[in-house]
Amino acid sequence: MRIVTRTDEMIRASRDLSRAGQAVGFVPTMGFLHEGHTSLMDLLRPRCHTLVVSIFVNPLQFGPNEDLDRYPRDPEGDAARCQAHGTDLLFMPTDFYPPDFRTHVRVDHVTRHLCGASRPGHFEGVATVVARLFGVVGPRLAAFGEKDWQQLTVIRRMVDDLAMDIQIVPGPTVREPDGLALSSRNKYLSPQDRIRALSLSRALRAMQASPLADVEALKRSVLPLLEVDALHYLEVVGDQDLEPLSTLDRPARALVAARVGTTRLIDNMALAPRA
Ligand code: AMP
Repeated sequence: MRIVTRTDEMIRASRDLSRAGQAVGFVPTMGFLHEGHTSLMDLLRPRCHTLVVSIFVNPLQFGPNEDLDRYPRDPEGDAARCQAHGTDLLFMPTDFYPPDFRTHVRVDHVTRHLCGASRPGHFEGVATVVARLFGVVGPRLAAFGEKDWQQLTVIRRMVDDLAMDIQIVPGPTVREPDGLALSSRNKYLSPQDRIRALSLSRALRAMQASPLADVEALKRSVLPLLEVDALHYLEVVGDQDLEPLSTLDRPARALVAARVGTTRLIDNMALAPRA
């Protein structure tokens, strides 16, 4: 596995691969890799010639009071995981945004609520870094986790709107055996918080199992299950357009975001239309 830390070297490598007709599969990450990330590598490995993983903690997508400075890092463990999952090239840039970088990508509408409301500027940071990564890495395929459902929607919208010739491959959420969605941020949870964090997936599963079609009643019925310190949102939206639903009359997604202790967690699950 080759490790590249300079952006111009990555650009040269991707141009060489494309001239040689090699299809690049790409998994962008912020590192501290777990099985959620490696599942995306496994998903793309059989579908591409060259598998590129990036690790870059993107300052643009963190708000002023968020955890950029304490975001967990483990470059050696990450490299070993990438290698074990068939990565050909690991891109860990130290010079990603040049000093005269001036372009920002803003995706409207699907970013106005959910995490877009509780984290102003977050999705502009995400769309901007992913657009530049796509330009630098030149992938044919790129994998994103369903764990970040709104992010996946934003990336799909951007790729469609900007006619980028990249196939977006979604990967199902990888969970601990007890249901907790894997996240690099889980490491911040104390043992007691770890138990309360389970209430997110429990509430979402209860929504899946409920016969209620009325969304307000459905949400009310699971609120008591949420053992969190602050609920940022619990919403039911159309699974592709993220439009808020009042009745479960089409394929939907239930999404939750909450703070447990000092850690902000998100999760989501599919909801089938009620008969
Ligand atoms: P991050 O490093 O948190 O920016 O995540 C990088 C990619 O891994 C994103 O596409 C995430 O959606 C995906 N991802 C993170 N956690 C999980 C998980 N538990 N299951 C599946 N994909 C995940």
